[in-house]
Amino acid sequence: MKCPKCKAFNKKGVKECKRCGFWLVAGYGVTWGFMVKSLLIIYLFLFLFWFSLEVYL
Ligand SMILES: [Zn+2]
Repeated sequence: MKCPKCKAFNKKGVKECKRCGFWLVAGYGVTWGFMVKSLLIIYLFLFLFWFSLEVYL
């Protein structure tokens, strides 16, 4: 994966450029899947938190 900003070569699957820190997620299915999964986990936690509040109130 060539960095579009500084043209440095990075290992496949890395999130950021090792040289300049440029975000390299665009076009990576695995990375997008990981982001969606983590978002789902966050929503699940928020829902559980809200649900536990509903029980106590
Ligand atoms: Zn770079």
